[in-house]
Amino acid sequence: VINKMSLKFESHSVNEAFARQAVGAFVAQLDPTMEELGDIKTVVSEAVTNAIVHGYADKCGFITVTVRLFEGRALELKVKDAGCGIENVEQARQPMFTTGDDTRSGMGFTIMETFTDKMRVRSTPGKGTLVAMVK
Ligand code: ATP
Ligand code: MG
Repeated sequence: VINKMSLKFESHSVNEAFARQAVGAFVAQLDPTMEELGDIKTVVSEAVTNAIVHGYADKCGFITVTVRLFEGRALELKVKDAGCGIENVEQARQPMFTTGDDTRSGMGFTIMETFTDKMRVRSTPGKGTLVAMVK
């Protein structure tokens, strides 16, 4: 690991843009292409939005975003919440699966998976969710 950082913030929807910009600013030191930077910001948005709208639904709690930068311009991104958790992770990861309202398309995990090299989801109902991605 050549550099790492961690951000902890409350689950207000305005903080989605904060997390996206902050991670974007941090990873800029790897000199990413515009496309890579866009992909990273998009996956941060998707994971943080999930923590806000699903994890904490109508309550408020902390979200932690951790980024580790590796030699060779690789990075690992973790988004953690202590919200409601996911009953069936395999089902949740399917394209178009959603428990949300009709503003949700069920594509968040699919986007995260597509825009990164690897995505892991660890979740315990009632305890929270951790999404880890490598790019
Ligand atoms: P979209 O992302 O397209 O707006 P979505 O959020 O429903 O829709 P995904 O991001 O793929 O789609 O998530 C699928 C489902 O997984 C969600 O509907 C929700 O049930 C569950 N989920 C995802 N993240 C979390 C989380 N952090 N905590 C609890 N449940 C989650
Ligand atoms: Mg989503």
